Amino acid sequence: MDNQLNFAPCGYITLSSDGVIKTVNQTLLNLLDYKKEELLDKHLESILSNKNKFLLHTYFYPHIRLYNFLEEMFLSIIAKNGQEIPILLNARSYTDNKIEYIDCILINASKRIQYEKEIRDIKMKLEETIIEKDNAIDKLEVLFQDNQLKQNELISLNTKLKLMATSDMLTGLKNRRFFQESLSNSIDIYFKQQKIFSLLIIDIDYFKQINDNFGHLVGDQTLVEVANILQSVSRKVDVISRFGGEEFAIILPNTDKIGAKKAAEKLRLAVDNGHWNNFHITVSIGASTFTNIDTEQSILNKADGALYTSKNIGRNRITHSDELANQTNQL
Ligand code: GH3
Ligand code: MG
Ligand code: MG
Repeated sequence: MDNQLNFAPCGYITLSSDGVIKTVNQTLLNLLDYKKEELLDKHLESILSNKNKFLLHTYFYPHIRLYNFLEEMFLSIIAKNGQEIPILLNARSYTDNKIEYIDCILINASKRIQYEKEIRDIKMKLEETIIEKDNAIDKLEVLFQDNQLKQNELISLNTKLKLMATSDMLTGLKNRRFFQESLSNSIDIYFKQQKIFSLLIIDIDYFKQINDNFGHLVGDQTLVEVANILQSVSRKVDVISRFGGEEFAIILPNTDKIGAKKAAEKLRLAVDNGHWNNFHITVSIGASTFTNIDTEQSILNKADGALYTSKNIGRNRITHSDELANQTNQL
């Protein structure tokens, strides 16, 4: 064997047709740490594990016999110290002087196996990371949905709170605070856009007697009933509020004196015609219409004065503050 083959950068052996080692190069001897005489005339099986011996018979020989050629067979050969060395084997069979030989090239694949293992490890870690990432995304999604739910709850709670803060608990009408804000808004709009509006203050007549004769509970139910009547007769744009104990106040947007009187009369009549059982309920109403010289307080005072007049001249009637000079607007 010439030097080039002897020290080629791969192992080289020639086998007889039945697998006996006939030549071996130095590169392979170095890899396995054998001396030449320790391997020559030994069967190839002597440097193979049992598993690989099996492969030799089930794959190597049949393939070589069929095709005279074999490429990239993966095997492990055993070094003198017992260490298994993975190799890639290419083989070719040929006949020389009527004797059949098999030439084999053995390439040390330890590094490749190591690389493959590292690639497998990296792939596994990647897969684990992807699973962890997916789990984290799932958790995030659950948290996000949870957060969304809580936010919705908060929004609906805020809406309820807002409603509670602006509503009268007994009647469900707007409360006095809301009324004051609406009045202030209406005055702003009046001065900015010259949009006229009127105000009604409605007081139940002789309400104390209801409480005294029928009890506080019936009194409460009566307040709710009157509130319902006021609401059913009013427009959507009207701001109906419980102003105090048995008093209600209504802001009538886009309503002048005539409109205010009409609305007040409609309300008064609706209560008067209400279906009351053991008693009869009526209301007295004071109306006022906002003018250039009015303020939040003055329009309230005007309506209050008109209400006072309605009470004084017999109750169950309406008075507009503009007519206070005439004293009454009797029905
Ligand atoms: P007037 O015709 O002069 O208005 O007589 P009135 O009895 O309606 O007026 P007064 O101011 O003398 O009495 C009002 C009564 O309303 C006294 C109070 O106990 C009652 N009242 C105030 N708020 C409530 C309430 O929330 N529920 C009940 N049941 N009664 C209330
Ligand atoms: Mg009163
Ligand atoms: Mg009253």
